[in-house]
Amino acid sequence: MSGKLYLVATPIGNLEDITLRAIRILKEVDIILAEDTRQTLKLLNHLEISKTLISYHRHNEEIKVDNIIQKLEEGANIALVSDAGTPVISDPGEVVVKEALKNNIEVIPIPGACALINGLIVSGLDAKEFSFYGFLPLNKKLRKEKLEEIRNENKTIILYEAPHKILNTLNDLRDILGNRKLVIARELTKIHEEYIRGNIVEILEKYKEPRGEHIIIIEKNNIKKEQLQNELINSMTIQQHYSYYEKQGFSKNEIIKKIAKDRNVAKNEIYKLFI
Ligand code: SAM
Repeated sequence: MSGKLYLVATPIGNLEDITLRAIRILKEVDIILAEDTRQTLKLLNHLEISKTLISYHRHNEEIKVDNIIQKLEEGANIALVSDAGTPVISDPGEVVVKEALKNNIEVIPIPGACALINGLIVSGLDAKEFSFYGFLPLNKKLRKEKLEEIRNENKTIILYEAPHKILNTLNDLRDILGNRKLVIARELTKIHEEYIRGNIVEILEKYKEPRGEHIIIIEKNNIKKEQLQNELINSMTIQQHYSYYEKQGFSKNEIIKKIAKDRNVAKNEIYKLFI
C-alpha cells in the first residue's frame, strides 16, 4: 500500500506556533522533505525529533520528484515542510503534490501558520475577499503588467516582499496605484513584530531602513467596476472600442448598439463608421 504525503505547516517565527498534530506527524513519518535541512534541523532539535531529512527546494523539485513518488509507492509516509509557514505557498511543493495526486497517493494538509493569513486578519482591511499575489515579478515588463492588474482589483491585495526590496516595491506601488492605504506587517510572531499603517507616501516618509520579514496588505480599489469600465472606454479610439467588444464575442450589430450606448451617440452614426 502507498504511503501518504503530509504537507506540514511550521512556525513563521515563534517556535510555539506548531500544532500538536504537526508534531505527531513529524514524529511518525519515515522521511521529512525540507526546503533547507539546516533550518528544519533547528526545529526538529527543538522538538526533540530525530528523522531522515531530504533536501527538497525550488532548484531540485523536478529532479527529486520521481524518487519521492517511488518511496511513497513503496509505502513510506513522507512529510514536506518549508523553512517557515505553510508549504507550497510561495514555497516549494506544488510539483510533488501534483505528481502524488497523478499517482493516486493521498495528500494531507496539516494546518498551521501562514504569514499572509495572519497579516490579513490584523490589517483591519476588508478581509471578506482578498487576492494574494505572492512576490511581484522582477522582470520590468511583467512587473508593470502585474501592478496594473493589482491597480484594478476590487479586493484587498496581499504581497510578500524581501526586506531589501520593500522600499523599491513601495515606490512602484505609489507610481502605479497612487497614494493607496496599506499596512505593512513586519516580523509576525517575532520579538520585533510591528504593524505600519498609513498611505504609501506617509509610510515611505517614515520607513527608511526596513529589516526582517514583511507582508504588504493593500486596501482594495474602491472605484466601482462601472467607473473603471467608463475610464477604460474613454481612453479608447472608436476602433479599439469595436475590437474590445469583438474580442468578447459580440456580433457586429450588438457591438454597434453597445458603442452607441457607451458614447451616448445615435446608432446610425456608429453604423456609418463600420460599413
Ligand atoms: N510559506 C510561507 C507562508 O506560509 O507564509 C511563505 C514563504 S515565502 C518564501 C517568505 C515570505 O513570507 C517573506 O519574504 C515574507 O514576505 C513572508 N513572511 C514569512 N514569515 C513572515 C513573518 N514572520 N513576518 C512577516 N512576513 C513573513
